[in-house]
Amino acid sequence: MSRVFNFSAGPAGLPLEVLEQVRDELLDWHGAGMGVMEMSHRGKHFTSIIEAAEADLRELLAIPSNYRVLFLQGGATMQFSMVPINLLRGRASADYLVTGSWSKKALAEARRLTSVRVVADTEAERFTRAPAQAELDLDPGAAYLHYCSNETIYGVEFPYVPDCGDVPLVADMSSHILSRPVDVSRFGLIYAGAQKNIGPVGVTVVIVRDDLLGAPMPGMPLMLDYATYAANGSMYNTPPTFAIYVAGLVFQWLKRQGGLVGIERRNIEKAALLYDFIDASAFYANPVRREDRSRMNVPFTLARPELDARFVTEASAAGIEQIKGHKSVGGMRASIYNPMPVDGVRALVDFMKEFERRCG
Ligand SMILES: *Cc1c(COP(=O)(O)O)cnc(C)c1O
Repeated sequence: MSRVFNFSAGPAGLPLEVLEQVRDELLDWHGAGMGVMEMSHRGKHFTSIIEAAEADLRELLAIPSNYRVLFLQGGATMQFSMVPINLLRGRASADYLVTGSWSKKALAEARRLTSVRVVADTEAERFTRAPAQAELDLDPGAAYLHYCSNETIYGVEFPYVPDCGDVPLVADMSSHILSRPVDVSRFGLIYAGAQKNIGPVGVTVVIVRDDLLGAPMPGMPLMLDYATYAANGSMYNTPPTFAIYVAGLVFQWLKRQGGLVGIERRNIEKAALLYDFIDASAFYANPVRREDRSRMNVPFTLARPELDARFVTEASAAGIEQIKGHKSVGGMRASIYNPMPVDGVRALVDFMKEFERRCG
């Protein structure tokens, strides 16, 4: 077996230890005589799996007891609708920060349901920075403020948590949740699709302050009401059991890495390796303002874009996969989520050096 260094933005690579454990338990989970995919979500085995997953996530993020942890389906994209459906609570409008493709999509979805105010928009600057707190034109009467704390495509990560007073703050953390400690009590709601930094695609994690539950827009399906999930332990219907199980193993793996403090240290080291190299090179460039650069998603361009296809092909031959940039930005993008080892980033930098020497 030979595994490549996988720089995919998502679905992304998983820790090898976790995959090995999944393999070992696939046919017979802990002596149950069956695998997790085959067992009832209401039986004692799966109950212990989902309870441990929630407990470990609570421990990792130090989630206060007045927050509920929900396991949903529909991806982060479903949250673009579920957030306004549940959090408007009769108010006239919601505030949105637009800092990239994902927050733009969230805004478009909210617009279908309510009136929205854009409190800052960096599209004119091609989404190359996070707006500062002082730039935010906040409405104190807004139902909530929504932002995307790490824009996966443009590689922009907020270096601060916006302050919106008593207005609940909602964050799409899909592509950097669990990469660093975060003060959950600053947020009304946090959501994240799993396939970037949590586990396999199919489960979406929602962390929501309990006072925000219970007043969805009238006429909405029960499946779009957070309270349905909160009242039923995320099992109103059959939850994505296998994805929750693997996410739980990733949480245990994270605890073995020293929790979020430990993984943050490694993420800082990996990001510095790559950005320092790009900044020192005249051949590669990253357009994002330094303070706002993402530790997880590093887009970069080559001085000669006609070499892009050759770069991707030769990278692949060197064991570096899924490095091509998003079509809306071009160039390359290295996603270096929690499971990416420091050696993977070193291998990428070595390849980039060598490619520049030959073609630059
Ligand atoms: C990938 C991503 C999404 C979309 O996730 P889906 O699971 O495909 O719905 C939303 N927001 C961010 C920040 C993402 O990175």
